[in-house]
Amino acid sequence: MHSSLRSGIEPFHVMDVWAAAADRARTHGDLINLSAGQPSTPAPAPVRAAAAAALETEVLGYTVALGIPELRAVIASHYGRVYGLDVTPDDVVVTTAGSGGFQLAFLAAFDVGDRVAMARPGYPCYRNILTALGCEVVELPCGPETRFQPTVAMLEELDEPVRGLVVASPANPTGTVLDAAELAALATYCRERGIWLISDEIYHGLSYLGSPATACAWETSREAIVVNSFSKYFSMTGWRLGWLLVPEALRRAVDRLTGNLTICPPALPQYAAVAAFTPESYAEADSHVERYARNRALLLDGLPTLGIDRLAPADGAFYVYADVGHLTDDSMRFTYELLGETGVAVAPGIDFDPVEGGRYLRISFAGATAGIEEALERLAPFIDKRR
Ligand code: PLP
Repeated sequence: MHSSLRSGIEPFHVMDVWAAAADRARTHGDLINLSAGQPSTPAPAPVRAAAAAALETEVLGYTVALGIPELRAVIASHYGRVYGLDVTPDDVVVTTAGSGGFQLAFLAAFDVGDRVAMARPGYPCYRNILTALGCEVVELPCGPETRFQPTVAMLEELDEPVRGLVVASPANPTGTVLDAAELAALATYCRERGIWLISDEIYHGLSYLGSPATACAWETSREAIVVNSFSKYFSMTGWRLGWLLVPEALRRAVDRLTGNLTICPPALPQYAAVAAFTPESYAEADSHVERYARNRALLLDGLPTLGIDRLAPADGAFYVYADVGHLTDDSMRFTYELLGETGVAVAPGIDFDPVEGGRYLRISFAGATAGIEEALERLAPFIDKRR
């Protein structure tokens, strides 16, 4: 039987490592999982209580495609509280997590054959989904000199124009942040040339040096599409809920696409997530950020003692992107050997950067602090053997 060209989509390798790690946990029971960006804590208590109440009181049928009005309203007010911005509920579309959000954004903004730029290294699912949709991904090679982030100069140097630019700040896998001036310059460049800017802000709230700017901060960049999610800051990865800020011109398309693709985002998480924007939930989420900051410091201090000292700045998110070129040029193999020999799971850089990623690893510090300490101890002899 014929299968589509799309069935050749690349895997999200981190999830393959995740599955191998789960096997390891079953067979050896000694796993320390620093592979996925998976908080080890549950959703904030008010969210869990609201979910329990909704199970009792709500029918939990389909909702309107754009999300329940009370959730769109509290998401809009989050922008007032956190960024001092006037966002209206009409700007907000509730989505099936950030993943569902960027799929909707790509489908609404791009046609087959459109060229869409993204940083390399970058989140692999943008590249894989855009390719599956028939877009041409234009990878912008980004190194330590621009903190692994794209610049206007990189766009200016392209031989052919692009229709879209995807940025993430804080970024995955590097954790690096675009400062307000850099994001404003990219937003202005894109707006002036009719390029859709898609700003993935799912790591907002997780930053260690000040608060990152949002692409909807400038009047001029209200044409940017902002992607956000409850997954990371609110520890709600499995709830599969997120949101978009959608420019007026794309709202009808996003509404129709959601209606056709999934009818609506999942109902129970929507009712529960209304309680995410309460002082108690913010306080709980912020207490996790304090733990991430401690974990980050442990890795930034501990890895250099093992000879791994070329590290991306990790200003946000919960990842350290480490250059291990002195130990391997095959990060995939290295990852599986590390898992097999030590029970420590990390993510291979090749997932994020098909060209240079063979010499990088991404280490997640979203888990428990004791796990980071133990992982550093287990890494030491493994690395010694390879030096
Ligand atoms: N964007 C980035 C940069 C990510 O790192 C991830 C997940 O790790 C996602 C989007 C998707 O997250 P979710 O679909 O859980 O919201």
